[in-house]
Amino acid sequence: MADAVVVGAGIGGLAAALALQRRGWSVTVLERAAALEDVGAGLAVAPNALRALDHLGVGGPVRSLAALQGTAGVRRPDGRWIARTDAAAAERRFGEPTIVVHRPALVRVLADALAPGTLRLGRAVSDVSADGTVVTADGTLTAGLVVAADGLRSAVRQKLFPQVAPPVYAGVTSWRLIVGRPAGELKLSETWGDGKVFGVVALGDGRVYCYATAPAPPQQTAADERAELARHFAGWHAPIPALIEAAGDVIRTDIRCLDPTPPTFHRGRVALLGDAAHAMTPNLGQGACQALEDAVVLATHAGSLDRYSAERVPRTSAVAAASRRIAHLAGLHGPAAALRNAGMALAGKLGPSLVLRQMDPVLTWRPPT
Ligand SMILES: Cc1cc2nc3c(=O)[nH]c(=O)nc-3n(C[C@H](O)[C@H](O)[C@H](O)COP(=O)(O)OP(=O)(O)OC[C@H]3O[C@@H](n4cnc5c(N)ncnc54)[C@H](O)[C@@H]3O)c2cc1C
Repeated sequence: MADAVVVGAGIGGLAAALALQRRGWSVTVLERAAALEDVGAGLAVAPNALRALDHLGVGGPVRSLAALQGTAGVRRPDGRWIARTDAAAAERRFGEPTIVVHRPALVRVLADALAPGTLRLGRAVSDVSADGTVVTADGTLTAGLVVAADGLRSAVRQKLFPQVAPPVYAGVTSWRLIVGRPAGELKLSETWGDGKVFGVVALGDGRVYCYATAPAPPQQTAADERAELARHFAGWHAPIPALIEAAGDVIRTDIRCLDPTPPTFHRGRVALLGDAAHAMTPNLGQGACQALEDAVVLATHAGSLDRYSAERVPRTSAVAAASRRIAHLAGLHGPAAALRNAGMALAGKLGPSLVLRQMDPVLTWRPPT
């Protein structure tokens, strides 16, 4: 049995380990953290990613974590709808719904599906070489394949792909929070105004996941992030202020991306995967979904990393570019924003299929046969 070492036990690394194990590889996952990710946030899992999870044999358990999202749409800060989406039409078109799950629950499903002993926590990798050598404080391993799934700030990418520019700040910071469901009807939506975004979605456990972005200088933090969020979204339509008021922990993350995406995802025996390869803005909710696609394709072409790069570089750079375009649209102000709103409203009136069709290239992906 061939040996693979996966650096990083995020969604990408765990999925890659599972995909390789299902193809007969003996896999070790080295994660520097002492425990698996426990970020109190939601994660949109789109039809393309659900098909990847089905391929990994865990689509059923992941679907069981989700709430049906129903009809949603984009609103103005005063609550009027700019455009509404028809969830049933989307599901008919893409063959699957987009579901939203609690991130740690998805991580747990992936980790539990691995063979016992695969995951080694508290093992930081200090060096990786193109010949498959992996160094930790416990010693040196040599692997037939090394998967660098070490995230946005990937040290493996910095060392083995020095020509790749470091991640750039996208000009906006983000906040994520999970709160109890407020009384009354909850309209699932993303609200756009003043270059800011506030999203509200339902989780399968009855709670509500909210995410928000706003322009801000990089690396700024507030003493009280909940108060900072309340300040940004004061006066926005109900239930946004009440949801912020009810929040416990608020996670703040500056949005950074790799732009452009690296021209190749492999060197020697080492393959980049997930955010290490193609960190993107979260506007399409596709960062982790693309990591799940990477995992399936990597396991299929693990013996020929040229093919992995050839399939994944154009695909992920197109999705990242589409995500940046939405970031740009969501960030518009004043007359440009009014024009955008009119265009979106018109597109919605001309027919929901027109809007949905634009997502075909992203959401109709299927695992290689
Ligand atoms: C606000 C926000 C909202 C988002 N929403 C969505 C969404 O709805 N849907 C979606 O698909 N995506 C979303 N994303 C993107 C998604 O979170 C990422 O694309 C995804 O988590 C990347 O997973 P990964 O496994 O590649 O990297 P990571 O999750 O960053 O995992 C990397 C792992 O590597 C470990 N590591 C790093 N260095 C070492 C080392 N030297 N040795 C050992 N271990 C190491 C780290 O500890 C970490 O566990 C969002 C992102 C943000 C910021």
